[in-house]
Amino acid sequence: MSSRLLVVGAAGKMGKAVQAAASGRSDLAVSGTVDAGDDVVAALAGCDVYIDFSTPDATALAARAASRAARAAVIGTTGLTADANAALEALSNVAPVIVAANFSLGVNLMLGLVRQAARALGEWDAEVVETHHNKKRDAPSGTALAIAKAIAAGHGVEYAAVKRHARDGEIGARPHGEIGVATLRGGDVVGEHVAYFFGEAERIEIAHRATSRSIFATGALVAAAWLVGKPPGRYTMLDVLGLPS
Ligand code: NAD
Repeated sequence: MSSRLLVVGAAGKMGKAVQAAASGRSDLAVSGTVDAGDDVVAALAGCDVYIDFSTPDATALAARAASRAARAAVIGTTGLTADANAALEALSNVAPVIVAANFSLGVNLMLGLVRQAARALGEWDAEVVETHHNKKRDAPSGTALAIAKAIAAGHGVEYAAVKRHARDGEIGARPHGEIGVATLRGGDVVGEHVAYFFGEAERIEIAHRATSRSIFATGALVAAAWLVGKPPGRYTMLDVLGLPS
């Protein structure tokens, strides 16, 4: 029997991609869709799991309603506010929740690779460059932040203590251990992320390039199907994919 899926942010680019990809699955059936102005409380009542690619405020709203209904949640919205994160934390006490800045298999593998590289190459300078289409609202991308945090984890430091999101003017020499994240915006680029590790006279680049947003929809659906029936709590794409965390 298929699980009932609600799509939040259904009229958006990702919401549409999720609905298109869901039609190819037998284990999930779209039971409802909501976008701005729709009644998310009523829609949640009729689902087993929901996938949310919307806005941080909409994500907070849906998570509060989902807490009351104890519904499993797959959250793809990026740039989450403290309010949205608090609502998702509360939801994870009563239902299984997965929040991922990027649902692609390749990116999740990349997170593991950069952490491993950072651990092995702690003395090397690590930088991240991300490129996205000219309509993207938040920067740096949630994926770039996840990559930078994976590097920080590999270095064994708190990301907040070493991050550098912009450089301009007389900035002086690069502090050792700093992790820079640079942003490019243009055209219709779906998403590109490159992690650089600069050593003396050598350099490693670990890159991921997405050419279709269908990869995010496919991953979110895999996560949704996996999440149904799991105990309340926070899960990651590494759990879904069975990769070591
Ligand atoms: P989009 O602007 O095309 O779609 C967002 C949709 O949310 C719109 O249709 C909007 O009307 C709707 N919305 C606004 N308020 C709402 C409300 N109260 N209730 C329900 N829906 C509401 O954006 P998009 O490109 O589809 O991206 C959506 C989000 O997903 C962004 O945060 C983006 O960064 C993120 N994203 C994440 C991944 C990932 O893999 N995690 C991949 C791509 C995009």
